[in-house]
Amino acid sequence: MRTTAELASADRAHLWHPFTQQQGWCSEELPIVVDHAEGTHLYDTDGNSYLDGVSSLWCNVHGHRHPTIDAAVRAQLDRVAHCTMLGLSHEPAIELAERLIAIAPAGLRRVFYSDSGSAAVEVALKMAFQWWAQRGEPQRTGFVCLENAYHGDTLGAVAVGGIEQFHSLYRPLLFESWQARAGDAGHLSELLERHGDRVAAVIVEPLVQGAAGMLMAPEGYLHRVRECCDAHGVLLICDEVATGLGRTGRMFACQHEEVTPDLLCVGKGLTGGYLPLAATLATERIYEGFLGAAEDQRTFFHGHTYTGNPLACAAAIATLETFERERTLELLAPKAQLLADLLAHQVAVLPGVAEVRQRGFMVGIELTARPSHEQTARRVTLAARRAGAIIRPLGDVIVLMPALAMSERDLRRLVAITATAIADSTHGRLPAAV
Ligand SMILES: *Cc1c(COP(=O)(O)O)cnc(C)c1O
Repeated sequence: MRTTAELASADRAHLWHPFTQQQGWCSEELPIVVDHAEGTHLYDTDGNSYLDGVSSLWCNVHGHRHPTIDAAVRAQLDRVAHCTMLGLSHEPAIELAERLIAIAPAGLRRVFYSDSGSAAVEVALKMAFQWWAQRGEPQRTGFVCLENAYHGDTLGAVAVGGIEQFHSLYRPLLFESWQARAGDAGHLSELLERHGDRVAAVIVEPLVQGAAGMLMAPEGYLHRVRECCDAHGVLLICDEVATGLGRTGRMFACQHEEVTPDLLCVGKGLTGGYLPLAATLATERIYEGFLGAAEDQRTFFHGHTYTGNPLACAAAIATLETFERERTLELLAPKAQLLADLLAHQVAVLPGVAEVRQRGFMVGIELTARPSHEQTARRVTLAARRAGAIIRPLGDVIVLMPALAMSERDLRRLVAITATAIADSTHGRLPAAV
């Protein structure tokens, strides 16, 4: 086996990491090279263990190397690893679609697979656009998104994004969209009043804007968004790539406000964080708008090579089974409450912390603004890493996104490490542990 130093040097010679300034990456301390994982811990090539405080970028649900999911993927390997869904079908894709529809907000009936959250969003945007064109309203080409929105990094998803730092440079490449003030249904209503007849759909991250730094929508907002869309005959796309699969305490965030979108995007947690798979769920009304004879040209001309990959579908089925078998959502409520208590007592009280925001197992800790707050957030994550936890900054916000399976004991450790890292990095005092 190669040493960590050898691997790190080969990494620096050839890899280009996502969302990473490589100049910093190559001059900093050695990167952690993950060797294996167990439950909610990652182990590096030197044998050090780390709490996975961001569930491997918000997607691990039941822990790493979960026996049920491992077994499902292994069993599927003995059948077929991949076959196309163009002109063929297979049992894992069929069974997963049935299961998704059974747990999705009532009214969603069709599952279109893809392989990343961004692709699931592209699919939803194209479906909305084409649906209107085929209904004889081709002038509905626009989309309304929310300020600070994040829907992925492909160009269509960037066009409905609202994070200046990530998105503004690409404007010349993008179709236009209107931005509504997040959480302000009145403003959305005004926009639709003015432009509604040219709008195909409104797209939102229900309840929590994740990449924006865990910004919480006011209660009832999602419901008002659905009403505004209905009032103007506009479609609603809910991007549940981050919030879906139990993150907010319900299987889907929409279910907190009894909203059914016309299109719903899932990704990240869908396979329990095992394999790349995403899906766009549609109502029968949307689906029927695409039916016709071949010569009618109503086909949805979209599909990825690995659409509905059988291994990924098997992992997703096992993930959903595990929700039932381990009563994951039931057990989550008291753990989310514990997390809230720990954060209130140990983190919110720190002088370096401006605000702690939480919904279920989505946490954003906003640091007090100061000239170099992004640097501070980075220092915090490096300090946490040295203490044995992987957490990530988003601008001046520290994100905690533990797997839903994280034990109470590890939640306590995660918050304690985070509190100490913030206190040390912001020179604030650390209050006595509670
Ligand atoms: C992560 C994310 C995406 C993009 O998913 P990828 O799998 O990274 O392409 C889209 N929407 C939301 C809300 C996300 O959090």
